[in-house]
Amino acid sequence: MNTEVIKITDINNQKSEILKAASILTNGGLAVIPTETVYGLGGDACSKESAKKIYAAKGRPSDNPLIIHIFSPDDAEKYAYTNEIYYRLAKAFMPGPLTVILKKKDIIPYEVTGGLDTVAIRCPSHPVAREIIKAAGIPIAAPSANLSGSPSPTCAEHVINDLYGRVDMIVDGGECEIGLESTIVMVNEDGVVTMLRPGAVTYDALCCVCERVVLSPSMEGTLSENEHPLSPGMKYRHYAPDCRVVLLDGDDKDVLDFLISEQKKCRCAILCYNEETELLDASLLFPVGDKTDVAEHARRLFSSLRRADAEKPDIIYAHLPDRSGLGLALYNRMIRAASHEVKKI
Ligand code: AMP
Ligand code: MG
Repeated sequence: MNTEVIKITDINNQKSEILKAASILTNGGLAVIPTETVYGLGGDACSKESAKKIYAAKGRPSDNPLIIHIFSPDDAEKYAYTNEIYYRLAKAFMPGPLTVILKKKDIIPYEVTGGLDTVAIRCPSHPVAREIIKAAGIPIAAPSANLSGSPSPTCAEHVINDLYGRVDMIVDGGECEIGLESTIVMVNEDGVVTMLRPGAVTYDALCCVCERVVLSPSMEGTLSENEHPLSPGMKYRHYAPDCRVVLLDGDDKDVLDFLISEQKKCRCAILCYNEETELLDASLLFPVGDKTDVAEHARRLFSSLRRADAEKPDIIYAHLPDRSGLGLALYNRMIRAASHEVKKI
């Protein structure tokens, strides 16, 4: 398949590019679009055929449901049964990095929801995504635009590496601002909000808007093979580079000493803090930001993993993140990338 790559930096002066991407989507094609979380592999969310094409392009198991992207929170009415809590969440967090699971209406085919009676709804804030969705006038099913199992793409280059030749268009909208996938919540009939996947809308932020918020046990990825997580994607090995990743848990000084000694023994790649770059051997260092800048760690995580993996090191080391605030989302992705391998120092 021919893949056209276009760059959109100015939505006001690039209407024709936006219309081109939109018309690919309305005609049953696949267009990768930038969002504030990660890049999304878009197709028509009301079309079975488009859903099948998305799964094929990603190499994704078809029981792993897709998130549908809408322009305005009210558009959810057309595709799902909304409720008061949905609108409370929408008022607080949409457009933005929050996905809400609701009971689906018939217009959304089971091919999109992996056979489930529910549908995942999100209203992205990225201006390019919003213009394309508005111009298309349809809901856009868009899972992360990576090959299934590899780290999610946070810039067009990642998408080109994974999906060039497998989609009709890749829209380059620069680097994603957040860099981790959306927070996913399910709203139960009794008003309890269950967090299925942590993201930039944090547990504390949800608690400010909803009285009862609980964390799903699948979030830490500790379910056994035959358990069914509420969020099907959580059962797959996710966000993982090919190389073994190990998370280091210990005092800063001890971890640094460990890394200095490891650098002498093997070709280890290190996702380090900026403050550590001077203290370590310069080769195979992938700084993720200042130690306390968790938003920057989130933004750089997937690209650092990809770049580290490309060097084919013996092992990739990274700091075990703190689980508070946005750190919980970072922890959730990193623990999967590391297949739960944490080394106590
Ligand atoms: P991605 O689009 O790659 O960020 O992943 C989408 C994830 O959203 C899936 O892997 C599921 O875990 C979750 N998801 C989508 N639809 C549903 C649904 N109807 N019920 C529960 N989880 C869902
Ligand atoms: Mg994904």
